[in-house]
Amino acid sequence: MIIDHNNLRTLAREMLIASGSEDDEPAIVSDNLVDANLLGHDSHGIGMLPRYLEAVRAGELTVNQHARIDVDTGSMLTVDGGAGYGQVIGMEAMDIGIERTRQHGVCVLATRHSFHLGRIGAWGERCAEAGLVSMHYVNVVGHSGLVAPYRGSDARYATNPYCCTLPGTPGQEQVVLDMATTLMAQGKIRVARNKGERLPEGVVIDGQGRPSTDPEVMFQSPQGAMMPFATYKGYGLALVCELLAGVLSGGGTCRPQTNRNHDTILNNMLSIIIDPTRLVGQDFFDSEAAATLSHVKASPPLNPDEPVLVPGDPERATGKQRRADGIPVDEQSWRLFADAALTAGIAEDRIEALARV
Ligand code: NAD
Repeated sequence: MIIDHNNLRTLAREMLIASGSEDDEPAIVSDNLVDANLLGHDSHGIGMLPRYLEAVRAGELTVNQHARIDVDTGSMLTVDGGAGYGQVIGMEAMDIGIERTRQHGVCVLATRHSFHLGRIGAWGERCAEAGLVSMHYVNVVGHSGLVAPYRGSDARYATNPYCCTLPGTPGQEQVVLDMATTLMAQGKIRVARNKGERLPEGVVIDGQGRPSTDPEVMFQSPQGAMMPFATYKGYGLALVCELLAGVLSGGGTCRPQTNRNHDTILNNMLSIIIDPTRLVGQDFFDSEAAATLSHVKASPPLNPDEPVLVPGDPERATGKQRRADGIPVDEQSWRLFADAALTAGIAEDRIEALARV
């Protein structure tokens, strides 16, 4: 199925309203999810909404929460999300962080107890749009582990994403490095399962620690585990995310003692936001960053059809194409989404009317 992004926004918004979200919350959450689809990250798009609404019903996600400042030393802050929608908490937390960075030149911002913060690149992009550089270290707490540490055979933590962004410079777009620390993001395993596809070698091991290409191993008992990218280097970055986000925020780390329920996806995030002009001045930042990106991109491609890109380019290209042509939604993902809409109380003919380009 190919669905127009505005139709998806409308349907997701109506589902959120029917589930108790008020004021700007339905629009903020639905826009963030559909934007992830537009940018090609279906793993963090509307496919998450059925799980969110289930979590609302289970009392794991609290609607209509706002970022609450718990620790405030000026340039260092801790914000608590009260298990509210990460799309709202993340946006409000970033806006506080941006304002403090403008005052102090730098802000260390810990966000804790937020429900799923979605695509972390959205938070980096928000800082970059304000002309700021940022780094975000994220962990997940509340459900059992998903990822095996390097040399381990069972899951001990989640897909802990890392994001670093730089603002656009003359002639160059933003740099948006935004990635799970696993070979494949968890939602992409869900999407492969929904499509009945096998996974590439090396992405998961089964519940006995044996290599597998079956996405089902992550949904069986005993559950399998996902593998870190780049062996011990990816594992090292994931562990740093676990420690910086989980410990410094006070939100906790992924351990049996902190598990609650499989539908809980509480994110903690340590963000470091920097005003580059306080260090080097706008002119130097612009010219040097732009020259570096041009230099790197000018490397002759090994394959003429695959030019060198910078992080953020693939998402911008997919966004341009999907905005024009619509968002492809596989049948199983659509069925789960439409079922969730029905459960939320949306009429069947309304769902059908919106399921088109
Ligand atoms: P990915 O592998 O698709 O991309 C990772 C990064 O590589 C991106 O910055 C992308 O622009 C860049 N990239 C891709 N191809 C490139 C190329 N040819 N040249 C240069 N750069 C290139 O992303 P992923 O690891 O699958 O993560 C998907 C999303 O999942 C991210 O948005 C992440 O924030 C999100 N995530 C969220 C959570 C959470 O708990 N909230 C957990 C894990 C992942």
